[in-house]
Amino acid sequence: MPRADAGCTLRAVAVAGTGTDVGKTVVTSALLRALRGLGVAAQAVKPVQTGVSAAGGVRDGGTGGMPRRGDAGTYASAVADMAGASSVPPAAALRTFALAASPHFAAAAEGVCLNAAGLAEDIRGHWARLSPPAELLLLETAGGLLAPLNARETMLDLMACLGAPVILVARNELGALNHALLSLAALRRRGLALAALALVEPPREVREASGPAILEENIRYLRERLRADWPGAVMCCLPHVETLGPEGWSLLAEQLLPLAHSLRGKPAPGFPDTSDDLEGRDHAALWHPYASATRLPPLETASRSHDNRIVLADGRELVDGMSSWWAAVHGYNHPRLLAALRAQSGRMPHVMFGGLTHAPAVTLGERLLAAMPAGLERLFFADSGSVAVEVALKMALQCQQGRGERRRTRFLAPRGGYHGDTLGAMSVCDPVTGMHSLFAGLLPEQLFMERPACRFDAPFAAASLEDARRILAERGDEVAAVILEPVVQGAGGMWFYHPDYLRGLAELCRRAGALLILDEIATGFGRTGRFFAAEWADVRPDILCCGKALTGGVLSLAATACTAAVAGDICRDGRVFMHGPTFMGNPLACAVAGASLDILEENRWQAQVEQLERLLARGLEPCRRFSDVADVRVLGAIGVVEMKAPVNGAALQRFFVERGVWIRPFGRLIYLMPPYITPAEDVARLCDAVFRALEADAWRLPV
Ligand code: PMP
Repeated sequence: MPRADAGCTLRAVAVAGTGTDVGKTVVTSALLRALRGLGVAAQAVKPVQTGVSAAGGVRDGGTGGMPRRGDAGTYASAVADMAGASSVPPAAALRTFALAASPHFAAAAEGVCLNAAGLAEDIRGHWARLSPPAELLLLETAGGLLAPLNARETMLDLMACLGAPVILVARNELGALNHALLSLAALRRRGLALAALALVEPPREVREASGPAILEENIRYLRERLRADWPGAVMCCLPHVETLGPEGWSLLAEQLLPLAHSLRGKPAPGFPDTSDDLEGRDHAALWHPYASATRLPPLETASRSHDNRIVLADGRELVDGMSSWWAAVHGYNHPRLLAALRAQSGRMPHVMFGGLTHAPAVTLGERLLAAMPAGLERLFFADSGSVAVEVALKMALQCQQGRGERRRTRFLAPRGGYHGDTLGAMSVCDPVTGMHSLFAGLLPEQLFMERPACRFDAPFAAASLEDARRILAERGDEVAAVILEPVVQGAGGMWFYHPDYLRGLAELCRRAGALLILDEIATGFGRTGRFFAAEWADVRPDILCCGKALTGGVLSLAATACTAAVAGDICRDGRVFMHGPTFMGNPLACAVAGASLDILEENRWQAQVEQLERLLARGLEPCRRFSDVADVRVLGAIGVVEMKAPVNGAALQRFFVERGVWIRPFGRLIYLMPPYITPAEDVARLCDAVFRALEADAWRLPV
């Protein structure tokens, strides 16, 4: 098992217990011995050791201060007679605290606040500094899985930060099944991989008190459960050994040989696996957004995510600057969103919406309508933003038919807009960047007006409405609806225009008898500094679409709402609205969206977005100094650096990944829209990376 990338990819397995004093240290030490016996340069590490006196001895909590040897001492003694097996020191303890108590309490007694990300950094730093390098770290955690690190985080969070597979150690006694199953459930909920379950035999008195038949049954039952629920995990049973000398350690190590072999050979489940060549397999089989299948786009393999971080397969963490295309406003793996998902999946993941309803959809629909601009009273759930736009266009057409306005079959949209990739949605996208020429003949032909030229941050110029006024005067009676993104044109150019334009346009629509459709799929849920961007102009659309951040980035869900008048006209004379997706109102997505609305309310999204606006404005300001920069603009939690020429997206992606940030520019735009929970120092890292890319000329296309 060579370590080709010394200092980079951490290979570690966590040894965690179902509680304290279940035999973790014995298992860790014996496994160390087994691995070293196979020639694996393994080291056993205690990331947090409590109950250690300054001199390095360990105070026994039970006996009130008689020093005994720390776990690191036990690891060393388990391999003491194997001198020469490896030149890697057998043991290390990274953080030590005097009080023999839970890590949060022992650390607090010394004025230290531990956190999972910091401890993970300690471990990675230790791994990188080890000389000679180790091939595998055995990380023995403190206490049980949920032993607290601080007021919020537990040992489980540390394991999740590392993404290492877990060896769960349980003492085989009365109650072991419950403890083991609870711990396995907790591992599963966090998406952690199980390398092994180690059942440790207790001393004779405990065995006899529990009843030998019960202990046998524990082994049988857990072996079955492992086989069914955790295929690939190894089951190990360790006998009780009275005296732990070389013989005793050898006996224990022998029981752990199958596990040692599995850790030495093929990487255990959960290991970052670069040998998997996912990028190569992807290139052979899959397509990526707006990409060629022959000139392959550069790819990174994402293996995990947390908070505002995307973790790559090789363990590198990227600060996310994209919110996965406007969606992950609360960052990744938010426990409340995942809890809502799990709870709903246990009740009812999906049922058809034809003829059936359910609480997640009804409650979410009511809440969305209450949060939307006044007048929107009827809501249709769709499964993606593009479909929500199709629904909006169909609503407008059916509404005009209901009104007897059958000539009104066209839509009017500003240039520079983007509304999705299905045919109807594409027909109202910018005719140039939306590639209308590619699909000429298939796409319905729509009407286009000039892009709103009035900047958000400049005085409103009434002339910017002239084109809309002219077209509506000339052809207004053909127009079923005007569709546009309020205040921020997103994928069509990240352009921020003046709210007065929207106000004026709404009035022009009203006079022309055209409906107003606002596409809030990107702008909704606070991104621009208002819950819906329509609020900047206080306009009341006839139809509004939302999506993307609706589920906090967990599942695809979108919605189209309309006024009672539009709904009434669609349904005149017994007509129905002609749309009904299979996954309409998916209960999982609705439940997660409900939880996301709760978090938005509780997190005070306004304050978060205002803070991001300040930080982005300050952080991107220095970019103005480059002569190739055409504009720097910030609105809400969106920061844009517009270049004078198109950028080299592939080169920039690589440049940013090397600097630990995830930013994906397109066209002439390098832009940031981080999750609302992004800490100030990470916003600074994102902005600095953009500045450095300009400074290093990394954005230029090859000439
Ligand atoms: N409208 C707008 C304004 C969008 O930004 C997008 C997605 N970028 C869509 C519609 C289409 O949404 P989806 O990708 O979910 O189909």
